[in-house]
Amino acid sequence: MKKLEALISTYSDFPKKGIDFKDVLGIIQNPEIFRELISEMSSSEIVKNAEAIISIDARGFIFGSAIALHTSMPMIVARKPGKLPGKIIEQKYNLEYGENSLSIQKSALAKFNSFVIVDDLLATGGTVECVSNLLSGNGKEIKGLLTVVELSYLKGKARFNFPVKSIISF
Ligand code: AMP
Repeated sequence: MKKLEALISTYSDFPKKGIDFKDVLGIIQNPEIFRELISEMSSSEIVKNAEAIISIDARGFIFGSAIALHTSMPMIVARKPGKLPGKIIEQKYNLEYGENSLSIQKSALAKFNSFVIVDDLLATGGTVECVSNLLSGNGKEIKGLLTVVELSYLKGKARFNFPVKSIISF
């Protein structure tokens, strides 16, 4: 996937000094490569084993909803604070560059038993660990994590006891 890699730009020292920010938004400016990527992500065993997708705010929504359409799977979302109406469950987490929290609508979560987590990028794994705690804390099964990019030097994968598939690893 050399063509895919060429669409991912690196911005040094963004949003903080010392962070190499990988910008995946170039992918959606190229529909052909985007389609190929979604097809490859959708064919993963992790996706096939899950009942539903949970995608992470905000770039995870782009890839998660495209996979949902491609596979005809239902999708729910994990969102940053103050965005979701109704009853929610919420948990704090640490980012490669800060702290935040994620929430899920209780009514959406109640409909499904097993999930594949989808995000654009795996860095330290704090974000996915937060979603994974929210899911397993509510009796849900996690079939795996699917991301476009993995920053393998940060060893985020080591935090999880479920399979992780990333299309590009730096
Ligand atoms: P982490 O919790 O450290 O695995 O961070 C993953 C989340 O933060 C993903 O939702 C990414 O969109 C974002 N993120 C963290 N580090 C980077 C980075 N170096 N480049 C782009 N996005 C990042």
